[in-house]
Amino acid sequence: MRQVIIIGSGPAGFTAAIYAARANLEPLLVASSVEVGGELMNTTEVENFPGFPEGIQGPELMAKFQEQAEKFGTEVLYDDVVSLELDGPVKKVVLGSGAEHEASSVIYATGSAYRKLGVEGEERLSGHGVSWCATCDGFFFRERTIAVVGGGDSAMEEATFLTRFASKVYVIHRKDSLRASKIMQERAFANEKIEFVWNSEVEEILGDAETTGVRLRSTVDGSVSDLALDGLFIAIGNDPRTHLVHGKLDLTSEGTIWVDGRSSRTSQRGVFAAGDVIDPTYRQAITAAGTGTIAALDAEHFLADLADGAPVAETVAV
Ligand code: NDP
Repeated sequence: MRQVIIIGSGPAGFTAAIYAARANLEPLLVASSVEVGGELMNTTEVENFPGFPEGIQGPELMAKFQEQAEKFGTEVLYDDVVSLELDGPVKKVVLGSGAEHEASSVIYATGSAYRKLGVEGEERLSGHGVSWCATCDGFFFRERTIAVVGGGDSAMEEATFLTRFASKVYVIHRKDSLRASKIMQERAFANEKIEFVWNSEVEEILGDAETTGVRLRSTVDGSVSDLALDGLFIAIGNDPRTHLVHGKLDLTSEGTIWVDGRSSRTSQRGVFAAGDVIDPTYRQAITAAGTGTIAALDAEHFLADLADGAPVAETVAV
């Protein structure tokens, strides 16, 4: 049986692994069968991660996280968790391959998933002009007309990046001002290929086999208009990935995993959570890494108390 299993391979998971491995806890990290590294794998230049004044590509940063975690003895498994047993002193983690792993503690750092618009055409045209990842799919839209939906940093980053390929990039936003940070806004406003479509919601994505446009509804007067497009990138935020722990861990009203104050302790003894899955507010790589540290330290203290036979305080959600 392991001392600690870490679920998730973003900045939170790998930082927890670095700390746990350096504390000789020999962590097992379940990374994903599809892509290791979490959200930053879909990012281009990361300019705000301390220690990299010249910037660093998201995938390169995550490769460094992994290298550092493995250097101290983290075992990385390229598989998906399909179910969990978190109550009781032995935590059980079942993987897609059918393998089962047991541990005295679990650090849950599964991040968040792209939010969907929930409109007609979105599912059908996904992969046929509708995308959630500019770095993955931008290349396919050379000299085409596309749009990005959203008004946050993700939307500005995607729109700016996509001007490398597209001849025209609309940004469709439901308000008349952006939520994005000043620097990202200014960069987008200064880009001649970007045109803003304000106060507009996407009502439907148009096209049979391929995306041909969107139907927009004005949030001011309700009027409807069509905009011809070759592609649509949806960048409207993320939702915490909690489906594996529904009914097993307490959640907050915002849908994130409840943790006790500034700690990483969840409502289940021996289970700790970190990263975007507990954070509805800040959601930065560096804050995720910070909470990953907290989770590893909390797990370390929990395991030390367990080894000493000391009573471990119950955590009670409020
Ligand atoms: P945000 O939650 O910040 O923004 C989401 C945007 O999408 C908002 O403008 C919101 O509109 C809009 N939106 C949400 N739901 C819908 C909907 N159903 N239909 C239409 N529009 C919708 O998410 P981001 O992914 O942009 O950013 C998340 C976090 O990651 C932030 O903290 C951000 O700073 C950070 N980030 C940082 C980057 C960087 O620094 N390089 C890059 C990318 C992200 P409204 O404003 O009306 O609510």
